[in-house]
Amino acid sequence: MQMNWRAGSGAAVCVVAMLVATAWAADPVPRSKEQAAMTNELPKTDAEWKKVLTPEQYRIMREKGTERAFTGRYYQTKEKGDYVCAGCGQVLFASKEKYDSGTGWPSFCGTAAPSNVTEKADTSHGMARTEVLCSRCGAHLGHVFPDGPPPSGLRYCINSEALSFRPAAKPEAGGSDR
Ligand SMILES: [Zn+2]
Repeated sequence: MQMNWRAGSGAAVCVVAMLVATAWAADPVPRSKEQAAMTNELPKTDAEWKKVLTPEQYRIMREKGTERAFTGRYYQTKEKGDYVCAGCGQVLFASKEKYDSGTGWPSFCGTAAPSNVTEKADTSHGMARTEVLCSRCGAHLGHVFPDGPPPSGLRYCINSEALSFRPAAKPEAGGSDR
């Protein structure tokens, strides 16, 4: 009888402890929100974008600036791979459409996928141009002009700062792409 009483009492203490632990765990947890922002969610406010972009990237991508010609990272890049949005990682352009336009900015005669970029009339600075933006995060990328090489006749003139280059996987040992 004595033994049973003690066992019951111990179990009751245990249940109380579990309830307390559960109540603490169910508290509003800002930590889980933070983790979601880092994995999937894009920044929404100007302040949030300032945290994830460099000042130069912010000026170009969120304030529609332009980098100086012949100064960007990628205007001379010829390696095979994909150019993804520096803001959100969406694939925007492929190396096979890149060509040397001589302008000092990375130039492409087409996009990796038409739905990945948004084109918008831009009449700023007294010019009639077509602005190119990332369709996922709305970043300003550059402009598209109708003076590119055939067959498309298009020249996507893009700021290096808005791009991040992902080199294609190296060919298997023994293989060759020449
Ligand atoms: Zn983007």
